[in-house]
Amino acid sequence: MNTEQPTKENYFNWLKLSKEMEDFYKDTPLLEKLNNQKKLNPNTKPHIVFSDYDWTFKREGMLEETNINQELADQAMVPTIIVSGRNRRELLRHIIKDGFKLPEAISSSVGTELWILKKTLTKDQEKEILKEENLDQVLDLYEADPGYEKNLISKGYDKKSVLEKSRKMLDKIYKNHPNWNLGFQPNQEMVNDNGETIDLNTLKVSFNFYLPEDEKDESEFQEKVASEVARFFPEVKIIVCSDDFIGEKPGKKVRFNLDLLPVGKDYVVKYMREHFGTEGLVAGDSGNDLEMLLYSGAPASVLVGGSKPEAVSVVNKNIPEFREGRRVQRFELEDGTTGLIYVGNESELGPIGLRNASRFFSKFKAMRDRQRS
Ligand SMILES: [Mg+2]
Repeated sequence: MNTEQPTKENYFNWLKLSKEMEDFYKDTPLLEKLNNQKKLNPNTKPHIVFSDYDWTFKREGMLEETNINQELADQAMVPTIIVSGRNRRELLRHIIKDGFKLPEAISSSVGTELWILKKTLTKDQEKEILKEENLDQVLDLYEADPGYEKNLISKGYDKKSVLEKSRKMLDKIYKNHPNWNLGFQPNQEMVNDNGETIDLNTLKVSFNFYLPEDEKDESEFQEKVASEVARFFPEVKIIVCSDDFIGEKPGKKVRFNLDLLPVGKDYVVKYMREHFGTEGLVAGDSGNDLEMLLYSGAPASVLVGGSKPEAVSVVNKNIPEFREGRRVQRFELEDGTTGLIYVGNESELGPIGLRNASRFFSKFKAMRDRQRS
């Protein structure tokens, strides 16, 4: 019998991380959980839950369901990475306001950033610190992964030039389609206590637009706007999703977000797999989650109940034989990629869909392995 106690060092040997990454990650709650999984099941890849925040991880009026999920993930030693369209500051503000435990990592601004929780808080410390007035202190508990942003900048995304081209694009599109009301999203910057302007999304430029009254199909309209924008930005990733805004003015009732980015939300799933040998359950509900759900190569994807029409329609389009009554469906993409997705029904809203799907995790993997052999 092997009586050697696995240690963090063992796990690092297994991972072969760079010295910089090793130093950065060695005492993080994320690595501790992965290491604990590895101790129990040395031959299994450790798991991570990658979840969108709004309407997936958390849904208004269902906060207790999220608390239960966090408790279950803790017991299973599975870390959570929240992958959100919100910037880091806004995301953490919501997590505190909603009263949740801090996730082991957050990938904010649509997966273009990766922030790692650097220390485990005791229950008492959590009570003390997790208050909205301590937001700056909570932000300091997270540090940026040392390689993530560098990798993305090396992909050639130059925010300054994207911004310059954006202004020209907005002028031209406004001339042809004034009723789209396409414009920059507000609040992409903030002024700090020293009077300095801080960019809240270093690798993202975002816009809003609105559904005109003569457009009947939301998903089709979103695609139309995206392809118009793509003419100006052939080299940048364009992600569109609906927003939760309900406006007052006629013709401005349905609002959408459009982001210009170097990568989509799938990138963080791939990054963790490459560096930590992890497998994940990925969950989402809207257009900016599709990349993660369909292209990340995760063994298990979850489209939670109550998802946005743009996400439901794309997922459905890629399921060649929808099997009625079956939760787990097989999808097949145009490039031949196949995968499995749990499609939550209307009683499996947000966090309940996520929980129900996680029960299928081992089944998912067995099904996938069968497909591959
Ligand atoms: Mg969402």
